[in-house]
Amino acid sequence: MSELTSLTTSEMRAKLLSGEISSMELVSAHFDRIEETSDLNSFITLVKDQALKNAESADIIIKEKGSNSGLFTGIPVAIKDQLVTKGIETTCGSKMLKGFIPPYDCTAVKKLKDAGAIIVGKTNQDEFAMGSSNEYSAFGPVKNPWDNSRVPGGSSGGSAAAVASGQSPIALGTDTGGSIRQPAGLCGIYGMKPTYGRVSRYGAVAFASSLDQIGPFARSVKDLALTLQTISGLDSNDATSVKDKVPEFVKELESWESKDLKGIRFGIPKDLMSGGLEDSVSNSFNEVISRLVKLGAEIVEISLPHASSSLAAYYITAPAEAASNLARFDGIRYGHRSSSYHSLQELYEKSRAEGFGKEVKRRIMIGSFVLSSGYYDAYYKKAQQIRTLVINDYKAAFMNSCDVVLTPVSPTVAFKLGEKTSASPLTMYLADIFTVPINLAGLPGISIPTSLSPEKLPIGMQCVGPLFSESLLLGVASVFEREFKFPVTQRTTGRIN
Ligand code: GLN
Repeated sequence: MSELTSLTTSEMRAKLLSGEISSMELVSAHFDRIEETSDLNSFITLVKDQALKNAESADIIIKEKGSNSGLFTGIPVAIKDQLVTKGIETTCGSKMLKGFIPPYDCTAVKKLKDAGAIIVGKTNQDEFAMGSSNEYSAFGPVKNPWDNSRVPGGSSGGSAAAVASGQSPIALGTDTGGSIRQPAGLCGIYGMKPTYGRVSRYGAVAFASSLDQIGPFARSVKDLALTLQTISGLDSNDATSVKDKVPEFVKELESWESKDLKGIRFGIPKDLMSGGLEDSVSNSFNEVISRLVKLGAEIVEISLPHASSSLAAYYITAPAEAASNLARFDGIRYGHRSSSYHSLQELYEKSRAEGFGKEVKRRIMIGSFVLSSGYYDAYYKKAQQIRTLVINDYKAAFMNSCDVVLTPVSPTVAFKLGEKTSASPLTMYLADIFTVPINLAGLPGISIPTSLSPEKLPIGMQCVGPLFSESLLLGVASVFEREFKFPVTQRTTGRIN
């Protein structure tokens, strides 16, 4: 039975439609797997009873409608706890929201449910999506399925670990500065941050609204395309969602089945690649480049002169927006309320002091500082100016030199639990060097597992394209998938160390 947890959603759908398996069996197999691998701590909330009930209904729908049923009918999915789910506790990995039961569904979640998907649970994450290791969760860290002494990445670490370990075939995450791409890379699966505006943010608890995007995790490029196609599109509840027709990502992907990379220009940003790369990552990057050349790709050196200032600009912009967004958690309108206080001021202070964890407090303080009178021009305004320069760098690169920008996803493989939390916060922030520029520029980026390090840890590559070039990125990723044959299901059956 355990091989059911290795399948892609299209394989599951074929088996469900042919009657070879039932949704009941499929969903139960995933809960067995979740139990067997519970030490990963990838879920904050599980909804087994509800999921099994939904599986029963899905089996009836499949019998009645067959292939006219929604594409995900009867298929399990995992949802990051940053996304609100009607009737299911949503904490954002924080004590602040413990016990919060949302009265509505996030649009992306609703779209998956409308397509028949069955939620198995809410995945663990860094508190309010702030972090790169999942260690800043109020519900304990998540472990990397490839090595339990290491982090899965963050902030959507639970979603990545769930998909990599066979607890769910796909999952949703959010990506403000890398939180889908980085954990996907460190856990050896596929992850995509769509173009800003491609997917509605309605119902994603806001971290940094000008950077946040919802996106999918999967064990195959096709599943990534299917999920993206399902969750994309205009939403009247999010004024930043774009009205363009959603492309048929899955159909467009089919046209890549017979293609190689002939004529595709991959830009290597020299300014970003200087120093800081672990040997195994830089060796694997060079190997990937030589394989791409054999597949007909053209490799060009490009210049993104301001990209290396992205980390500084991001770690001012994101905390500034977070300080403002998180002001709503005051213990009155939203969030945890302290049980003892003598004045309104004390109620605010104690509720926030008790509800928020260390990293969130640090971000609120940084954000309030950079926005405060006298410092605004020196920090926040400067960061916005850098952001414009970064946007222009990418525009120029795509206009003049390349179709796709290629970098590793992260400068290192999955690091040890505690390794970076015990050092200065800056060491954690440096893990985001390749991912944050993409959010500043609003571009789409995909994380593709390509190799294993000598110690058998996944290494992922990131491809970034112009605005709304998801189809191109998925196509390129499918060639990588075919050529590199990364053992993406190695962790989906059997015991985990
Ligand atoms: N690691 C980054 C941060 O801590 C990105 C987080 C994210 O994408 N949500 O801000």
